[in-house]
Amino acid sequence: MPIRLYDSLNRELKPLEAHQKDGVFRFYNCGPTVYAPAHIGNFRTFVVNDVIRRLLELEFGKDKVRHVRNLTDVDDKTIRRARDEGRPLAEVTKQWTDKFHADCAALNCLPPHVEPTATGHIKEQVDMIEVLLRKRHAYRAPDGSVYFRVSSFQEYGELSHLQERELKTGSALAGKPQTADADEKEDGSDFALWKAWKPEDGDVKWPGPDDAAAGRPGWHIECSAMSKKHLGDNIDLHTGGVDLLFPHHENEIAQSECCNGVTFANHWYHSEHLLVDGKKMSKSLGNLYTLDDLKAKGFSPMALRYSLLAGHPRKQLNFTLDGLHAAESALKTLRAYRAALPAQGGTVFVDQPVLEALQDDLNTPGALGALFTAINHHKPAEVSAEHFDRAMFALGFDLQAAESPKAAAPAEVEALAEKRWAAKTAKDFAAADALRKELATAGWSMLDRKDGYSLEPLKK
Ligand SMILES: [Zn+2]
Repeated sequence: MPIRLYDSLNRELKPLEAHQKDGVFRFYNCGPTVYAPAHIGNFRTFVVNDVIRRLLELEFGKDKVRHVRNLTDVDDKTIRRARDEGRPLAEVTKQWTDKFHADCAALNCLPPHVEPTATGHIKEQVDMIEVLLRKRHAYRAPDGSVYFRVSSFQEYGELSHLQERELKTGSALAGKPQTADADEKEDGSDFALWKAWKPEDGDVKWPGPDDAAAGRPGWHIECSAMSKKHLGDNIDLHTGGVDLLFPHHENEIAQSECCNGVTFANHWYHSEHLLVDGKKMSKSLGNLYTLDDLKAKGFSPMALRYSLLAGHPRKQLNFTLDGLHAAESALKTLRAYRAALPAQGGTVFVDQPVLEALQDDLNTPGALGALFTAINHHKPAEVSAEHFDRAMFALGFDLQAAESPKAAAPAEVEALAEKRWAAKTAKDFAAADALRKELATAGWSMLDRKDGYSLEPLKK
């Protein structure tokens, strides 16, 4: 069964197809801006995209999928962070890139085949802007910046279904504060392809396109340039969070199609927002969780992955700590079930209903439901381990991953645990007992195993 996925452009379910002759499926997914830790709302998108990647591998074959995800390592936010911390831009973005990679690995997300950076593709972006200038889809502003002329692209607004009238009057941007560059633009809806250097940019600048000032690329052009370089002019699937649909993806289409003269992406897919306790995440509400925040509460990254897949990706998902507890116990059930499967034999294939649900517009809650229905109906002895593992691969559940992260305990708790372990191995049981009590006071319990121990937070 082919994978059918909702297409945001045509607003219908469509099968995913590899359109190029080589049969390679070309998949572009907008990546993070590396200036701070990604929060769990960001990770919803990346985990959902990881399931897409896994399904594509199962459908087309591992070597017939090419997955590109960029890193935005130069923009207003990264520059501001570097300036505030008095550090070079590259150092700041390296720190948060490393952190992003570590979090993705903990969530068992497969790395993309290519992970291009905006700063590593300045030439490609400049080249593209020069084509757009030559074709008069772009113009140089008085300050040396370059803007895309939205009125030159008739199809503008098709993805986000904006009315032409709204665009003409610039009211698509209504509600947004008047931007500082309003005087530089011919029209309110035009957007920056190249931003002329300003003093607050510090030493962040590159030579610009023809006639333009030195400066840096706008955010939108990086995805157009990097997908062109690494996937070609026409790609099979472009994805991102719904917050990127307008203006980012709309602008990507305009830039790419005006430059290349062919359809940019054959299929567009957007995953919805994550709410926390029924509210939009925000710093001021204090409900903006990172993976580390959840690890510090004693949850495993795999439980977060499970929680993020528990709701349909095209619907808003309400994240709660109760949901995370439920995810933890669901994973425990899966682990125990997997351990009980026979090494060979077993004729019940639980991956079938799981894959069917996923292939039907990425129905992740349906897939989880089907999985639990299957394991509730069949004794482990009946079930094929190989096929069970295939279902785990599709969902990206690493059942070997630690149940609760040892690293989550604060350093002083770790130190107590080390002391207690030493006392226990030295058979000083009185000291070991006293230390166990100290750990409990700190809110932690220590589980002893043959070859070591693990720490678990006590339930409050
Ligand atoms: Zn993008």
